[in-house]
Parts: sequence; structure tokens; C-alpha cells
Amino acid sequence: MSFCQARWARGGCLEPSIFELSRPGRRGAGFPKKLIARIKIPEKLLRGSLRLPELSEPEVVRHYTRLSQMNYGVDMVFYPIGSCTMKYNPKICEELAALDEAVFLHPDQDESTVQGALELMYRLERCLSEIGGVSKTCLHPSAGAHGELLGMLLVRAYHSSKGENRFEVVVPDSAHGTNFASAAMAGFRVVVVPSNDRGRVDLEALRSAVSGRTAALALTNPNTLGLFEDEISEIAKTVHEAGGLLYYDGANMNGILGKVRPGDMGFDIVHFNLHKTFSTPHGGGGPGAGPVGVVQKLERFLPVPTVEYDGRRNSYYLDYDRPESIGKIRSFYGSFGVLVKAYTYILIMGAEGLGEATEAAVLNANYVMRKVREVPGFEVKFDGPCKHEVVFSAEPLKRETGVTARDVAKRLLDYGIHAPTYYFPPIVPEALMVEPTETEPKEELDRFIAAMKEISEDARSVPEKLWSAPSATAIGRLDETKASRSPILSWRMYENRARR
Ligand SMILES: *Cc1c(COP(=O)(O)O)cnc(C)c1O
Repeated sequence: MSFCQARWARGGCLEPSIFELSRPGRRGAGFPKKLIARIKIPEKLLRGSLRLPELSEPEVVRHYTRLSQMNYGVDMVFYPIGSCTMKYNPKICEELAALDEAVFLHPDQDESTVQGALELMYRLERCLSEIGGVSKTCLHPSAGAHGELLGMLLVRAYHSSKGENRFEVVVPDSAHGTNFASAAMAGFRVVVVPSNDRGRVDLEALRSAVSGRTAALALTNPNTLGLFEDEISEIAKTVHEAGGLLYYDGANMNGILGKVRPGDMGFDIVHFNLHKTFSTPHGGGGPGAGPVGVVQKLERFLPVPTVEYDGRRNSYYLDYDRPESIGKIRSFYGSFGVLVKAYTYILIMGAEGLGEATEAAVLNANYVMRKVREVPGFEVKFDGPCKHEVVFSAEPLKRETGVTARDVAKRLLDYGIHAPTYYFPPIVPEALMVEPTETEPKEELDRFIAAMKEISEDARSVPEKLWSAPSATAIGRLDETKASRSPILSWRMYENRARR
């Protein structure tokens, strides 16, 4: 039990904000009185209105260390939240992204002074195009969903350039919510196709959904059930023959990296989640990157500027002279720090290493699938091996004991394991979506499997323990809607709320 856990166990204690811990006159560092007496700070530089917390150094260190212990992070615990690829991010990627050469750059600097940065972007662009099996990649988007929006805008630009009015985007019912939202934001009507009893796109339903109105099909493969769309060639043919484009949601790239390329499967547009597959810690809302790759016929619509290489001058430059470009999708050139991490990751892994990572990710997911499906209360709805993730249904457990997928997810927190994704994808009742990733050793997977067994047993003997879980965390079971709509962001808010 950590110090924090002991405190919480005693009094349900929350960590106050640093302002509430402040005591007038406390100092982290002191200067000799004689020196202070001699320093005269000009009146106009004094900022009496600025309220800074006053604490000693150990108080500050303890405050932040305690806060860090209230959190779950992949550097601390197993983090099997499906579809999010919370794998361990090698520290060397962080170190290189923190180098002065990467940090102290201004996006408006003259090209001649940032040749190294441009070369890195150029080379990363080439690597991603190779990995995706596409011809050119734009590094600008800040996230996967942002990449999807760019992809949809490219779809629109392509069809309008041909004078065609295509206004429907077909999305499978198992798709990530952002796929529907991105298509709608770009002005398309969303047409949903159902999955078949194998958890894949129903080809017959797809054939009847696709028409001369179809602008694109948005698909992720492996899909959100962790299953490979083995009829992808047929799917691609169906959409292409109707004149539509294929959009690849690359968030599940960890299931195919180095093994098969979206471009070879027939996709025309691909987004990459650099923060998921290519090593950037994520989950806290920090900067991500969602580059978008395209086949040759779509290159001319990509946002400006692109990074190009001039062989005669042996130099890199930004190309704004692209008349058919859709314009800008964000400021400047992308989340540069994330690009540095992704490029580092690709180089340290190498082509072979990326393929091996995929193999380990798939092996880990299948190991967990085989073991957990034997635990009473959990089942897997679809036969056959999975790719990088597996979706369990806790429907039998709920039927037998009243304990839900949410209860199981929350209880796992008490074991020091991050909750899996639950109730997604919505086509699986009582879904628990588990993505172990390649960076977990067998012992960690076994710990997870043992926890699932114990939870299944507890559900039968002491279900009330699960209904109120978690109990060993800083905060217990929250009203999730309220927690996201009106979060408590300070100690004072907490006290005010408690008083009411
Ligand atoms: C995470 C994810 C997205 C969205 O990516 P963000 O970077 O979170 O915007 C899209 N599709 C799938 C399948 C995902 O898992």
C-alpha cells in the first residue's frame, strides 16, 4: 500500500491544490539577508497582484509526488485499454525529442537554419509512406480524429475535382465513434453497414449500401473487434467499382505493422496515430499526431506546405506552391516533438523490429483471449484468432450474478491494472476490450488473467464488493456523466460541492 493509499484508506483524503498548501513566508530557496538588502527591484517590475504559492522545497516535491501516485500511467501499471495502444514508450524517444535542437526551434525560422528539422520530417514522411503503402504523407494533423477530418476533406476535393456530387460515406457499425463524426463534420451523410455473424463487414449489406452517391468507405483493419477483415479485397473492389474511395483508420496499425500495408489492401487514404503506434505517451490530452498518407492521385490535394528535397542544392524546403491543395488543416507543420519521437522509434526498431512488435502484440492478445474465455462469466462472441486486441463479453457474468462489465473494469483498478475499454464497440453486449500490446511480459498478462478469475469468483460470493469498486484508489466510483460534464478541478470546488 502506498503512502497515498494509506491516507485514502484512513480518511478518503484528497490532495489539496498547491495554493491551499501555501503558507505566507515559506520559501523553497533562500538568499543571504545582506544580499537581499542590497538588491533593489524596480517598482514597475514588482507584481503584487501575482499570487504564487509559498512552500518549502520538500513540500513541493511531496505534493507533486503524491499527485503522480494518484494517477495511472503505463510507466507504473499494465494499461490494457483497448483501441488505445497504451504500450510502453522507450525513453530514448523522449530524450531525443527533448534535445535543444528539437525544442528551441521557432516555426517561422528561415528554412536554411532548420535543415535538420526539415530533413527529419522529410524522412519520417518517406518512412510512413512506405509503412502505409501510399505515395505521400502529410504530417500536419494533431490527432487521429483530426487526420480523419483531413481524409474526408481530401475525399471531397477529389470528387469535386471530377465534377461529381457524392455525399455519402459508408461506415461499419463496429467503427470508432470518430469515423461517423469526421464524415459528418466534413458534410457527408453517414450510411451504416452492419457486421455479419463473424464480426466482419457484411459484404451483401455493403453491396446494397454502395452506390453512385458513395464518396468513400471508412474502415479500420483489423476492425475494432480486433478481427482482420479477411474479405478486404472484395470490399475494396466493391467500393472502387462504384467510384468511391477507401479510407483507412490507422489507429489499429499495431495489429499489422510490418506485415501488411493498407495501400496494398486497396486503401486510398490512411491516417496514422503516431501517439498510439509510434511511441508518444498519450491519454492526458497532450499533443499527438495523426499524419495522413494518400495514393498518388490524391497527392495534389494535400495541405500546404509539404516538405520537399531539392537534389541539386542538396537542401530541404517547404512547398507552398500547390494550387489544388485543400489549404491548411492546422498552424505550421504538425506536432514536431511527436514527429521526432516517431522517427526515433522507427529507426530504433527497424523494419524487422516493427514486424516483431506486431507479432508479440498479436501473440499477447491471443494468449489473453484463450485464458480469459475459460473464466466463467466471460465469452468471446466471434471465433478464430484475433489481432492486437480482443473484445470479451461479460454478458454471462451479468446474467448469472448481476455484475456488469463496468463493475469488472472498475474492480481491476483495485488490482493496480488500468480498466479496459468497456461498452465499446457497442455491437458487443457488456463489452470489455483488452489490448495488452507487445511490451507486456507474460507475468503481467498472467496477473491480469488471475485478477479476472478472482473477480469472476467474487461476483458469485461477494458481488457487493464489485458494485462499489474501486476501493483502493484515490477516488471511488464516479458518476461518469457528471465527472466529464462538471469535473471538480480544485480543492475549493470540492469543498463547495460537499457543502451543498
Ligand atoms: C483512437 C482511435 C481514433 C481516434 O484517434 P485520436 O488520436 O484519439 O483522435 C480513431 N479510430 C480508432 C479505431 C481509434 O482507436
